[in-house]
Amino acid sequence: MSLSVLSVASEAVPLVKTGGLADVVGALPAALAPHGVELTTLLPGYPAVMGTLKRGKVLHSYDSLLGQPARLVAGKLGGEPLIVLDAPAFFTREGSPYADPAGKDWNDNWRRFAALGRAAADLAGGLVSARKFDLVHAHDWQAAMALAYLRFAPIKGSTPLPSVMTIHNMAFQGYYGREIFKELGLPKSAWSITGVEYHKGVGMLKAGMEAASVITTVSPTYAQEIREAEFGMGLEGLVVHRGDRVRGIVNGIDPAEWNPENDSHLAATYSVRTLAKRAANKRKLEAEFGLEPGDGPLFVVISRLTWQKGMDVLLEVLDHLVGIGGRLALLGSGDAAMEAEFRAAAARHPGRIGVRIGYDEDLAHRMQGGGDAILVPSRFEPCGLTQLYGLAYGCVPVVARTGGLADTVIDANLAAREAGAATGVQFSGIDYSTLASAISRTVALYHQPEVWKAIQQSGMKADFSWKNSGKAYAELYRELVSAQ
Ligand code: ADP
Repeated sequence: MSLSVLSVASEAVPLVKTGGLADVVGALPAALAPHGVELTTLLPGYPAVMGTLKRGKVLHSYDSLLGQPARLVAGKLGGEPLIVLDAPAFFTREGSPYADPAGKDWNDNWRRFAALGRAAADLAGGLVSARKFDLVHAHDWQAAMALAYLRFAPIKGSTPLPSVMTIHNMAFQGYYGREIFKELGLPKSAWSITGVEYHKGVGMLKAGMEAASVITTVSPTYAQEIREAEFGMGLEGLVVHRGDRVRGIVNGIDPAEWNPENDSHLAATYSVRTLAKRAANKRKLEAEFGLEPGDGPLFVVISRLTWQKGMDVLLEVLDHLVGIGGRLALLGSGDAAMEAEFRAAAARHPGRIGVRIGYDEDLAHRMQGGGDAILVPSRFEPCGLTQLYGLAYGCVPVVARTGGLADTVIDANLAAREAGAATGVQFSGIDYSTLASAISRTVALYHQPEVWKAIQQSGMKADFSWKNSGKAYAELYRELVSAQ
C-alpha cells in the first residue's frame, strides 16, 4: 500500500536552515520514497523559498488566513512534492525564519505559525481535491498547531487523519499569552488542559502533543529523558501520560550531502581506506584559522553558541585544552557574550585557537574533513547531527552522554577498543572536570596512532544513513494508518 503524508515544518534544506531540523525535514522525502511513502512538505514562503518557485502552480488562494491574504503554491523539494504557504505579510521579511536581523523574535510568530498550521489542516482535510493525504506529520512547535486545528476545527466534511508530532527540541515550545486564543479561530472547547491551554496561556507544542496519534523524538534516549523534569521542561507529565505513544527514532544523515568520498567542499576527498589523505585538509584548515601546526589533535566545534550546547563550559576548559597540546577551530554563532568570549580566547592563544563567528555551511564541511576530533559537550541533545557527520568523516566525536549523543557514539573504553567497536569519547555530566578529562583522554588516544585510526575507521563504517530511520518512520505511518 502506498501512502501519502503531509510533512509540515518551518525549515528544510536546501531552501532554509537554522539547525538540524532543516537537515531532517529536507532528507525525509527521499528517505521515505523507497518505502512506498510519498511525502509532501509544506513550508512557509520565505524569500529563499519563493525564489525557487518561478513557475509554481497556485493550488488555493485565501482572502484571509489568520488575517492576511495567502496562497498555497506547488513546487518541488529535491524532486519530491513541496507546497509553499505564500503569505507575504507573514514571511517576506529580512532576517531568519523566526527573528529580525537584530536577532529579536518577531512579535507575531504565533500568528505566522498558526497560519502555517491552519493551512496544513486545510490541506489535510482535502482543501485541494487533487492532493489527498493519509497522515499528517508535524515538526516542532511551529507546525504543531496543524494538529490542534485538525482536532478542534477540521474543514467541513473531512475525515479525521492520524498524525505524528515530532519533537526536535523540547526547549522550544511556542508558548504565548491567553489573549491570542481568540485570534486563532478555534472553538471554545479547545481551551482546556487537554487542548491548547497551558499554564493559562497557549502552548503550541503542547497542543500538538495532546492531539497527535503518536509523538516522536529524534533519539530513543531523548524519548526517555523527556519523561524527567530536567529534560521535559514542564511537559514531562504529558510525556509520561502519553506512555507508549511516545517513541524515539534517531535521525540519519544524507549521504548525498555528507560523504567524504565525494564532498566537493574538501581539498582532498578520502574514504575509510585512504584516511592519510585527510592530512591535506587539516593543513588547509589550520591555515584558514591561522593555526600553527602541532603534534596534538586539532579539535573543531560547529555549533550554536548556547548554554544547551555547553559552550560556557567549553570556554572554561580552553586553557587546559591548549595546555596539553590541543588546538581548536570553532565555527558558531549565538549568545553575544559567548561570541565575545570565544574571540577573546582566540586573542589569548594566537596560533592555538581560531574562531569564526557566523554561519558557514561550506566551512562546516571543511572542518569535518580536516579536524581530528569534534567536541559536542551538550547539556541536552535530542539527536545531534554534528557528531554523526564527524563519524562519517573520521573526525572523532567527543560527546556528553545525553540524548542522541549517547545513542550514536561508542566510548573508546578498553573493552570497546578491544572489540573494535569504539567510535569516539563520551563523558557523563557536563562541568569543568568531566570535559577537561574527556579532552585529556582524547589527546592521549590521539598519541596512539593505531588506536586512533581504528576509532576513526569504526566511526566511518557505522551506518547512520537514513536507511534504517526511513524504514522506522514508514512502519510507524503504516501502523497508524491501518489502526485508523
Ligand atoms: P541543533 O539543531 O540543535 O542546532 P544539530 O547538531 O542537530 O544541532 O544540527 C546542527 C546543524 O547545523 C548541523 O548540520 C551543523 O553542521 C549546522 N551548524 C550549526 N552551526 C553552524 C554554523 N555556525 N555554520 C554552519 N553550520 C552550522
